[in-house]
Order: sequence, then structure tokens, then C-alpha cells
Amino acid sequence: MNAPPLPTDGDDPRRLPTSARVRARLIAAGSRWHANDNIAAHLKAGELDELQAEVQAHMQQVLQALVIDTESDHNTQETAKRVAKMFVREVFRGRYEPMPEVTEFPNVSRLNELMIVGPITVRSACSHHLCPILGRVWIGVLPNEHSNLIGLSKYTRVCDWVMSRPQIQEEAVVMLADALQERVKPDGLAVVMEADHFCMHWRGVKDNDTAMTNSVMRDAFLRDPTLRREFLSLLSKKQQPR
Ligand SMILES: [Zn+2]
Repeated sequence: MNAPPLPTDGDDPRRLPTSARVRARLIAAGSRWHANDNIAAHLKAGELDELQAEVQAHMQQVLQALVIDTESDHNTQETAKRVAKMFVREVFRGRYEPMPEVTEFPNVSRLNELMIVGPITVRSACSHHLCPILGRVWIGVLPNEHSNLIGLSKYTRVCDWVMSRPQIQEEAVVMLADALQERVKPDGLAVVMEADHFCMHWRGVKDNDTAMTNSVMRDAFLRDPTLRREFLSLLSKKQQPR
């Protein structure tokens, strides 16, 4: 099977690889495009298909560089295509898709009790090795009468959107907290993430006991140790973190 041709540079900007056009737009807009940034606002219709094709072509070259005979080896004939689809449409889609629609409801019953959402299953990948990170997230919200409330399933969708990118766990929890803070505007917000990093199991030290826990505590959760204790104790009752 022949690899699709690599996109080529040329004098005509329309013939630049799609990734180069998108990058030029990001630079012009002064936007960051780190691995865990969302660049959906800078993509035009159809460009995600073009990016996927570009990744596929390069992935085919990676397989060639690994001296894998993708022509005779029936197992790897479609690997470049599968990996490109997996990266762009599945595991890193949180970079390319806009934030999921979140309907906000006014807090008509003026709820001001601690609310805990979780455990939410987290699937991500580390920015360093692109190895899977599998874990769980708990979210604590202390609403006030002006807070917007969002449906329970929306916490899961926002979490999934933030995590479906190459991430660093310490940054992932902050990004998730920021996304929720902006929507819910609570008096206090807490995010706890506990995850297994497969780059530790699969390579490197091959340590099997490498769960990592990170937390973000904001506003009322920072000021009020009783609230913080209440959150952490309810969380451990719901499911004992390892
Ligand atoms: Zn790693």
C-alpha cells in the first residue's frame, strides 16, 4: 500500500500543509498552541479532515523509519490511518472541537450546599510520551444564589473535553477548574484527580504503583478548612482513592 503523498510547501500559501496555515493563524492571533490548548476557534470547515490526512502521511513515515514493512505486514497496513484517526478524532479531539454546549440554569432554589460530582472516569495522555493516563476526577462545588447550575452530565462532558488532549496532570486539573469556574461562578470550587500514568508502567521505571493525585481548591475551599474536610471526607466515602 502506498502512503498518501506528504503535503508539500510551495510559494502559493494555499499549497502549504494545513497545519502550517493553522499555525500561521494562531501566530497572527497571538494564541498559544501547546499540546493541551484548544485551537477549535482557528480551524475552518473541512480542515480537520485535512489535518487527519497530514497526520496519516507523517505516521506512515514514522512506521517506515521504524523499519516496519507496512506493505507485506497485514497487521500494519492500515496502522497509519488508524493512528491518525485515533489522535485527531478520538484521544486528542479536545484540542480541535469547541467546548461542549453547556446549558446553565439560574439557581432559583438558591442552593448553597456543597455539591460533589464524581468519580468521573478520565482518559487522557501525557504530553511527554503520548502514553495513556487513566483515572478519576471528583468535583466539589459550593454554589451561591448567583451561581449558574449545570446538569450533572455536563460536568462529565466538560471534563472529557479538557482531558482529551495530551496533558500534564497538574495543568489538567487547573484547566478543568477554570472551565467550570467560568460557567458556574460558584463561591468555592474543588477538583481532585487521581490517575495512573502508563508511561510509568509501559516504559521507564515500570513501577506498578504510580497513581498520582492532584487537587485544586479555590475560594471557599481555600478559606474554610471545615468545608475542605467535608469535601474530602465525602469524597473518600464515595470511593476511597488509592
Ligand atoms: Zn509520560
